[in-house]
Amino acid sequence: MAPWLGAAGGSAAAAETAEPALAVTAVSQTSAGGVTELTLGLSGDAVFSLFTLTEPYRVVIDLPPFAWRAAPVAPGAMPGIVAIRHGLFRHDSGRVVIELDRPLAVRRAGLVPVRGGFALRLGLAPVSRQAFAASAGWPENARWQAGAPTPIEGSGEVLVAIDPGHGGIDPGTAHGDLVEKDLALAFGRSLAQAVARRPGLSAFLTRVDDRYIPLRQRVKLARQAGAHVFVSLHADSLAAGEADGVSIYTLSAQGTDSAAAAFAERENRSDVLAGVNLAGSEDDVTRLLIELARRGSKSEAIKLAESIVGALSGRVALLPTRPHRRGNFFVLKAPDLPSVLVELGFLSSPVDRARLVDPAWRAQLAEGIAEGIADWVDVASPGFLVPRG
Ligand SMILES: [Zn+2]
Repeated sequence: MAPWLGAAGGSAAAAETAEPALAVTAVSQTSAGGVTELTLGLSGDAVFSLFTLTEPYRVVIDLPPFAWRAAPVAPGAMPGIVAIRHGLFRHDSGRVVIELDRPLAVRRAGLVPVRGGFALRLGLAPVSRQAFAASAGWPENARWQAGAPTPIEGSGEVLVAIDPGHGGIDPGTAHGDLVEKDLALAFGRSLAQAVARRPGLSAFLTRVDDRYIPLRQRVKLARQAGAHVFVSLHADSLAAGEADGVSIYTLSAQGTDSAAAAFAERENRSDVLAGVNLAGSEDDVTRLLIELARRGSKSEAIKLAESIVGALSGRVALLPTRPHRRGNFFVLKAPDLPSVLVELGFLSSPVDRARLVDPAWRAQLAEGIAEGIADWVDVASPGFLVPRG
């Protein structure tokens, strides 16, 4: 399990501050004699812990919350390294995930004082897949922990959980300065206000800052708050880049088409990319009960999606073909909670990028979604509107 644990004094108590005390100032790599040395420059000393994971091969480093001031690493610039992800992981910890394209074991790890701060040095050496797997796994303390729940806006009886996708270590997709996690959060705030202004509705956000929340936890937070509706917010990118417009997804194992399936697959990888422990899923009996309840919530989710599509028509540009789409999204699997995923637009599309940064367009989208939810309340099966919590 936790193969390395190191410290050079310091403290992890810098949580919840606006600007973290610690900064990662540089990332560099050198190779000699088959051993790769990866160095993270730190502004100060810090307690760190480190572990490795398989599928894909990853080295995960947990640190106190940090600001990232290192220059971006171009893809392919460092042999053996696919990507370096970083950000807030829990309310009290930052995380760096180094994704490897081959099994490289951590031979040594240590923090040494250097000019202007400290250097966290990792010695990585090639090993067999079996050897890498044998030492990989989550340490006991790596579990994600919930922070304080976010306040509920509005006083209506029907509570809408608004779930800004991604956050913290998981940026989602990006195009230049436009990053999915930031767009989803900013739009989520506007949507919460638009929903709370509607009579009978109130809203709460699954996250209100730039932190990572595991997919399963997002649904759990909604249910704990007593939500009646779950709306997850995302923005995709396409390699081809020709599509534009808003689309609404509901759960389906089959999916609308291969594009929807690929989108769901990308979204469901969120926890893997963030290095979240997925152990402890529901057992078979629970799964059966959940499946039974899900059939009811699925048809309710379809009504909800069609109400939102109806309310958005004429307000904003929808995806021209089938704006209501289906996909096997993990985050839509709450058993008793009608759930939709709103694809705000494609960051790969210049048309959508212009819309996404236009306050008037965003306001129309927020009003339309809020109206669609209010319309759904008028036609919802009464069982889905009873007080929860
Ligand atoms: Zn997303």
